[in-house]
Amino acid sequence: MFKHSQASPISVVTGAAGFLGSHLTDRLLAEGHRVIGVDNFITGNVANIEHLAGNESFRFIKHDVSNFIYLPDDVDCVFHFASPASPIDYLEYPIQTLKVGSLGTHNTLGLAKDKRARYLIASTSECYGDPLEHPQKESYWGNVNPVGPRGCYDEAKRFAEAMTMAYHRTHGVDTKIVRIFNTYGPRMRLRDGRVVPAFIGQALTGKPLTIFGDGSQTRSFCYCSDLIDGIFRLSQSDFHEPVNIGNPHEMTIKQFGEAIIQHTGSSSKLEFRPLPQDDPKVRRPDITRAKTLLGWEPRVAFADGIVKTIEFFRGRVAAGDLVA
Ligand code: NAD
Ligand code: UDP
Repeated sequence: MFKHSQASPISVVTGAAGFLGSHLTDRLLAEGHRVIGVDNFITGNVANIEHLAGNESFRFIKHDVSNFIYLPDDVDCVFHFASPASPIDYLEYPIQTLKVGSLGTHNTLGLAKDKRARYLIASTSECYGDPLEHPQKESYWGNVNPVGPRGCYDEAKRFAEAMTMAYHRTHGVDTKIVRIFNTYGPRMRLRDGRVVPAFIGQALTGKPLTIFGDGSQTRSFCYCSDLIDGIFRLSQSDFHEPVNIGNPHEMTIKQFGEAIIQHTGSSSKLEFRPLPQDDPKVRRPDITRAKTLLGWEPRVAFADGIVKTIEFFRGRVAAGDLVA
């Protein structure tokens, strides 16, 4: 199955110090892989991987993957997860976001080709933009504003998918594309601006929850362990077209805010702010493909995942982390 080592495959994970990259690294190590984590810490946190210090199956390289990647090692799998992912982050780093989605994807695909390794790229539901089809199937081509504030992220990921398919079709690289829908859980940054850490941090510190717009826009939140399980299954499949991984349980952002107040027992109020430009009005994955192909569907109920996440952020707030 693996070219270099059946017993202990070698995986490269870019973005390994980030939220999802660090959970993926843990899963791969638990599956018996050796992992080389690569990150430049632009939005990552060393705390996400410090539990791996001294683990002989894990090695870390600080590197910007938008620059050429040289690795003397054999490599069996490349997982390209490096990219700012929060709207606040990619608005702050639009050029780095475009570079890691384009040059970083090209470099990591080149690495996979050179090493004859499998390749999996973390794409996104943002490829569907502000969708005119609901729920979103993989066959939907999307409704993206290329020159709006989210364009740097959306178009970088759409380019990354096109580049990945070109390496598959032209060079025969064994590629997979996962379109990730809103995922939450421990290790998100309290101040990364995404709605999950923002609302939980605000609720835990008695600040108003900042609802953008009237809160009628919807999202569908997936707990991180479910997502990582779907991604691991996809990495072992022979499927090359994009696959949605996410939780179809959809709610409005206002309902989400109310749920956070309830689960934290906070006395915070809701405060309404202007809706950012091009903010998608609805989002929910159609996961028929993942169910059929991978036998995957999410297992963690929202009430369970959110309690675990709140406990993690309670610890961060107690440790003095700043809230958005
Ligand atoms: P994150 O910001 O926590 O992690 C991204 C990691 O990539 C960080 O550690 C960052 O330092 C690193 N990175 C960024 N640019 C880099 C570069 N040029 N070189 C090396 N490292 C670099 O974000 P996340 O939520 O863990 O997202 C991980 C991946 O999943 C991203 O590609 C993102 O687009 C994708 N994704 C995430 C979600 C979600 O809900 N979390 C949804 C859709 C897609
Ligand atoms: N949002 C909000 N208040 C916040 C942060 C986000 O109302 O403090 C909204 C945002 O406008 C969007 C949804 O929550 O409609 C999800 O935002 P997030 O940044 O988590 O991710 P997105 O799905 O937009 O990429």
